[in-house]
Amino acid sequence: MKTALLVPVYNEQEVLPLFRQKVQEVAAQLPQEKFEYIFVNDGSLDGTAELLKEWARQDPAVKVISFSRNFGKEAALTAGLSQAAEADAVIILDADLQDPPELIIPFLQKYKEGFDVVYGQRCDRSQDSFLKRFTAGCFYKCYNAISTRPLPANAGDCRLLSRRAVRAVLALPERERFMKGLFNWVGFPTAAVPFKRQARPAGQTKWNYWRLWNFALEGLTASSTVPLRLWTYFGFAVSGFAFLYALWVAFQKIVYGNPVSGYASLMVAILFFSGVQLISLGVIGEYLGRIFIEVKQRPLYIIDEKINCD
Ligand code: UDP
Ligand code: MG
Repeated sequence: MKTALLVPVYNEQEVLPLFRQKVQEVAAQLPQEKFEYIFVNDGSLDGTAELLKEWARQDPAVKVISFSRNFGKEAALTAGLSQAAEADAVIILDADLQDPPELIIPFLQKYKEGFDVVYGQRCDRSQDSFLKRFTAGCFYKCYNAISTRPLPANAGDCRLLSRRAVRAVLALPERERFMKGLFNWVGFPTAAVPFKRQARPAGQTKWNYWRLWNFALEGLTASSTVPLRLWTYFGFAVSGFAFLYALWVAFQKIVYGNPVSGYASLMVAILFFSGVQLISLGVIGEYLGRIFIEVKQRPLYIIDEKINCD
């Protein structure tokens, strides 16, 4: 059976030699398997491209797709999956060894037991900062509360996909690609393999909190329309309350002759509801922006160079 290891890389020159060594150690433990390596160089600006080229020159099983600039990990994964569509299974690994390459062994075992999707479940995230774990926890809660297809907790992109699962993912035409959501959406028999998320041995994460926040918004808007509908119910609730309040004020005036007072309460109400209206407009804007991106129909990425890809 042929397995493709798909690795998106962006400025990973520090960690790549170590990754190469580790992956080759694992492959050596599985002499009966045929591996190919698909590296998607996502517009790296450091020596990553040279390292990959060198490796590809020595080993024809190493395929490299280089983008014309940085298009992001989701685009890199999509490009890699298209290249790997002929393999029996594709295993997605980060280049930074945070997803340990040893996972390949249990992944393949599960695949042979008949699972189409085998994902790595981070059972210990103590290597991630408290803030990262906390925000990730909030995101998953929110996502699962509103999405029609809940994500399994603590699953990253690190996983094995069978050929038919890869084809199903590639058949999804959207441009805004929240891959974790797409992998999960296609279904098929799925198994989890728990693992301990490692610390990065070298190099740096490419995800600051602003990028993560935008990624979370992309995930939520790509998978659910609940944020749009929420405002309808909120509007109904507020209008109902306002109507009852108006009755109450009229009653006070007619029965007790109380003067209608309250500059302060008026200001609070105006400011509060202007804020609410702006937020709801913002939510519509989020979706509208994404529709705009979809209708433009731009390609997801531009390829600069392919090596050993036939
Ligand atoms: N990556 C990529 N393009 C990007 C950002 C990241 O291909 O724009 C790759 C990166 O090289 C690594 C993987 O995606 O192999 C995960 O990135 P990172 O380790 O920075 O993310 P984290 O583990 O911190 O979530
Ligand atoms: Mg990482």
